[in-house]
Amino acid sequence: MIPKSHPRYESLLLRDKMVKASKEGYLADSALIAHGRGEAFDYLIGEKTTYPAKRAMYVAVAAMLLSDNPVISVNGNATALACDEIIELANSIGAKIEINLFYRTDERVKIITELYKNHGFDNILGSLDDDIEYLQDIKNQRATASKTGIYSADTILIPLEDGDRAEILKKSGKRIITIDLNPLSRTSKMSNISIMDNIVRAIPFMTKIAEDLKTQDKQMLKEMIYDFDNEENLKESLEQIRIKE
Ligand code: ATP
Repeated sequence: MIPKSHPRYESLLLRDKMVKASKEGYLADSALIAHGRGEAFDYLIGEKTTYPAKRAMYVAVAAMLLSDNPVISVNGNATALACDEIIELANSIGAKIEINLFYRTDERVKIITELYKNHGFDNILGSLDDDIEYLQDIKNQRATASKTGIYSADTILIPLEDGDRAEILKKSGKRIITIDLNPLSRTSKMSNISIMDNIVRAIPFMTKIAEDLKTQDKQMLKEMIYDFDNEENLKESLEQIRIKE
């Protein structure tokens, strides 16, 4: 049991979740390393949601609400840290959820499919019995996508994604949104909207934003997207990383 008074309480809770997920068998070995990289960046921004991240979240939610076929892509890390919160966001904005694993094995896909079902989300895409296509005809694991999900999506939220996969998705002409604590990652640089925040803070905040933006005029949402400059916002995000004593 971690005492609540521990200065790194929240961070240690997340570590616990990752270790538990690893024992349950749906994380690749490198998942814990990727988590550690995220942790380091979170430490440097004070484990708080920054202003540029909030701005990007508003634009991301606006883009998803205006999309015809928005999809949230989930991997093991995202599931371990925020399964219920992802389901809530998907329900709020009317998005699909698709399993998309860097190291895809039938066993991992099966466990994650069950997890979402047990948490109340039945129509999970990218499962073993789903109709899988290859983006841009690239016959490679990185290019697999569910026919009714990522393959035909116009906007995709890819939290904690790897750069190769992000590149393929971007080249296939889709609008890409990422949640990635590293503003220097290839994924952050490649995305149309990059949210430099911890997934555990970002997803619930986006659900709140969705409740607000759903009641707003569509033209206003379009203008928010039009006015957003991801490169500029990433620069501002990077400025939030300061080494303080
Ligand atoms: P890229 O291939 O995009 O350059 P990478 O090789 O660092 O980046 P991966 O290790 O495949 O990418 O993906 C993990 C990414 O997710 C890292 O950039 C890491 O900072 C980020 N990350 C890890 N944990 C979290 C978290 N809890 N919330 C948000 N981002 C996270």
